[in-house]
Amino acid sequence: DELFEPERPNSKGMDLRDIPTIERLEETRAPFRKTTWAASPLIAGKAQPKDAQPVENPYQPADSAGTVAHASDADIETALTSAKPWDADAETRGAVLAKAADLYEANVGTFFALLAREAGKTPLDQIAELREAVDFLRYYGANAPTTPLAGTFTCISPWNFPLAIFTGQIAAALAAGNAVLAKPADQTPLIAYEAVKLLHEAGVPREALQLLPGSGAHVGAALTSDPRVDGVCFTGSTATAKRIRSTMADNLAPGAPLIAETGGLNAMIVDSTALPEQAVTAIVESALQSAGQRCSALRCLYVQEDIASDLLHMLKGAAKELKMGDPWEYSTDVGPLIDATAQARFNDHIAAARAEGRVMFELDTPNTGNFLAPTMIKVGGIEDLKEEIFGPVLHVATFKANELDKVIAAINATGYGLTFGLQTRIDDRVQHVSESIHAGNIYVNRNQIGAIVGSQPFGGEGLSGTGPKAGGPQYLSRFAKRETPSVDT
Ligand code: NAD
Repeated sequence: DELFEPERPNSKGMDLRDIPTIERLEETRAPFRKTTWAASPLIAGKAQPKDAQPVENPYQPADSAGTVAHASDADIETALTSAKPWDADAETRGAVLAKAADLYEANVGTFFALLAREAGKTPLDQIAELREAVDFLRYYGANAPTTPLAGTFTCISPWNFPLAIFTGQIAAALAAGNAVLAKPADQTPLIAYEAVKLLHEAGVPREALQLLPGSGAHVGAALTSDPRVDGVCFTGSTATAKRIRSTMADNLAPGAPLIAETGGLNAMIVDSTALPEQAVTAIVESALQSAGQRCSALRCLYVQEDIASDLLHMLKGAAKELKMGDPWEYSTDVGPLIDATAQARFNDHIAAARAEGRVMFELDTPNTGNFLAPTMIKVGGIEDLKEEIFGPVLHVATFKANELDKVIAAINATGYGLTFGLQTRIDDRVQHVSESIHAGNIYVNRNQIGAIVGSQPFGGEGLSGTGPKAGGPQYLSRFAKRETPSVDT
């Protein structure tokens, strides 16, 4: 009953087709083209971090955006002992988070530059990241429960939404009155550091929000295995979520919540009634935007046999138009992969498909940065994908008119359930397929990436996550140390 949706407009974002917008954006971003930042633990006490090391730029190793000093064991201990839930009323929590949103927007140049140089994100993605981050701050802030749930939460985030997801987790835990120990992804500590500084500047007490950069194996493991932690909010791979669950089971209270948003093996079905141009646009955006490095991205396309030849011909034509290159540039459609490890892993995946004659299409790869060229690989069905391929690689299968339910069963059998796309002009089919598919977010006749805070909660089921969905009305209720007591007199 404390969760409601007061007046709260989402951020408008920016329209990159508008030249004055680009000019304004460039003015704010340009001063940070060569800036170097330094991140270190932000704890409520004296930090004794490890030696600083360079943060890799996924496009240009020589253009590192800065350095990071990881949290030491002493820093982790200081953070755990000094963590203190945010003892302010709901209105204050909401107002401070809203102020942080304003500060984020005022620092658009810093964030956009870091998103390009630390995370390899293109301008389109830079805009979406900032937009979602401020929407999370304002949405959770506006819904801050009047009774704070007061505990200590560890928040662990991935590199692929280094601002939006990092901020969303923290904003939710803080809105609910918790103390937060934030562990950003190993690859993107600089964005996290700048964000936490702004949250402190907005008025979040230092004891209520501490930042501990470092590796998952060291800092992440320590912050999920200490009994002083009351709950964990995690976004990342399914394998890491399972590891964290088992660590928590051995060390934390039995009821300690784990909110986990994890990976997906996402499919789209295109039947023979689909509008071809609409389907092609949706496929290209879903599979290749952000270089396929989105949990929501399309991994396995099912095209009805009758239209497959024409549709795939159009798809190859559209993919050929994509420009790979420097994520700083407005003309770039596909940026680099996050690191050389990912590049090597997916190169092996493509090489294996090539050896079997299953590569249907691939673009030339630029010879700088961790690029992986958009590639299409023929498969028999989604069951051929043994794991989530986190890059611009689209697997394509065909199906006959009478095989729709077989395809749905194969998609459900993966055990994942994050996003699903459907392209059709048959209304009954929309209903039938959306009722049968196990997925948290279903997208019909559009792309299947992205979500709008407040109106399109995002999250999966099965191997894809625990729920409740981020950006939705149930999310805050999970950030609770304990139930509200029933008092009987
Ligand atoms: P990852 O699982 O490798 O790492 C995620 C975070 O967990 C990092 O901060 C890492 O340091 C930390 N970590 C690693 N080992 C740990 C351990 N033993 N204990 C505690 N923390 C540990 O994932 P990634 O490569 O950073 O991100 C990509 C993955 O995230 C993909 O699988 C993607 O699908 C998923 N993802 C899911 C969503 C969603 O909303 N469902 C959103 C974005 C990304």
